[in-house]
Amino acid sequence: VNYYLQNIERKKHLNAYLEVFAEEALNQADEVDQKIAAGTAGRLAGMVIGIKDVLAYKDHSLQSSSRILEGFKSLYTATAVQRLLDEDVIIIGRQNCDEFAMGASNETSAYGPALNEIDNSRVPGGSSGGSAVAVQADLCLASIGSDTGGSVRQPAAFCDIIGFKPTYSRISRYGLVAYASSFDQIGTLTRSIEDAALLLEIMAGADEFDSTASHRPVVPYSEQLQTDKKFRIGYIRDTLESEGLDPEIRETMLGVIDRLKAEDHTVEAVDFPYLDFIVPSYYILTTAEASSNLSRYDGVKYGYRSPDATDLVSMYKKTRTQGFGHEVKKRIMLGTFVLSADYYDAYYTKAQRVRRLIKEKTEELLRNYDFLIMPTTPTTAFPLGGNDAEPLAIYLADIFTVQASLAGVPAISVPVGYDAKGLPIGLQVLTRPFEEAQLFAFSKVVN
Ligand code: GLN
Repeated sequence: VNYYLQNIERKKHLNAYLEVFAEEALNQADEVDQKIAAGTAGRLAGMVIGIKDVLAYKDHSLQSSSRILEGFKSLYTATAVQRLLDEDVIIIGRQNCDEFAMGASNETSAYGPALNEIDNSRVPGGSSGGSAVAVQADLCLASIGSDTGGSVRQPAAFCDIIGFKPTYSRISRYGLVAYASSFDQIGTLTRSIEDAALLLEIMAGADEFDSTASHRPVVPYSEQLQTDKKFRIGYIRDTLESEGLDPEIRETMLGVIDRLKAEDHTVEAVDFPYLDFIVPSYYILTTAEASSNLSRYDGVKYGYRSPDATDLVSMYKKTRTQGFGHEVKKRIMLGTFVLSADYYDAYYTKAQRVRRLIKEKTEELLRNYDFLIMPTTPTTAFPLGGNDAEPLAIYLADIFTVQASLAGVPAISVPVGYDAKGLPIGLQVLTRPFEEAQLFAFSKVVN
């Protein structure tokens, strides 16, 4: 704990943490020491982690990097976080992220962006940007983030670490601040595949507080990491031919494909006819769900309330106007629009039908292939400031990560190389629902 506290102090400029629980973490460490001495320590004894500011931790602030939750303290602990604590994990702090996990650069945080340690003028990705930087810069051993459309995988790719999102419903969402509930999943940011597997093993499983959490038995993922199987792997042809793809990432991908073939895996190009519809359907559905989920921040129940309010309606309006940032307001308005009576069928219903097609086609490909591989991102970490300059380009850059989210399948980003500037490149791997064990084992093959 002291080691990480020193690093956090030394690298404050990276803005990875919104709050550090120094005293408390040191006390936790003492307790864990005693348990180790007594032989009663849990499986994560001594593991120091940070949690993204969207996870509830009893009696601790929870803000989703938003002013609207200023002063709010959580009344309970998220199921996933509790399960880690039950195994004696030590939580060192609350990590910076995009406001309500909406973004891909950590720049929508009300508390300023986290910075990529490799190049401080570049973004760490997002929305779990602070969580990625914390692992990259050795400010904790592992981070727990959330992934709605790429928020652990994309920052992991930008920061040269491993980002893993499980099958939808594998981990309880109880205590995870809702962005788009039919997409949201808790995920991990780690240096090793072993750590990702172990953390999943402990967090996964049924939960009486989340009826959508799967009852399927949890596999001992961390004990099934070795494989000498020869796999069938598909890659979507157009992903490597798309215009926006950085040529160096393309080269790296081709190198990975050659390497896998040389190791006697079968690698084939496949067609996926819905590539152009992935990003639009994702943003219609997630903004719709967000506009509904975020209606609870009304100045009455949580956090901030505008002091300028004169009556009930002005309290709602002023609280939300002052409390939410620009990106969040934009998405609430877009979501409200696509759910409005006149446009519901044209946008929301249609996007749901497109989601179904994307899910079915993805599942069909995954019946023929054990894995689909693609770049995690079309570019390496981009410079700060892009969010204001080119908001649409930032949405379009989610092209590779949102497919797994629309389909609900598990996906992981593993580091596979660097561009000429020394910026990391991530390879993304998708597999069938609940096949996380083979996803981890294959990740060790490509990593
Ligand atoms: N960049 C995507 C978005 O802004 C993903 C965010 C996430 O996964 N939370 O919606």
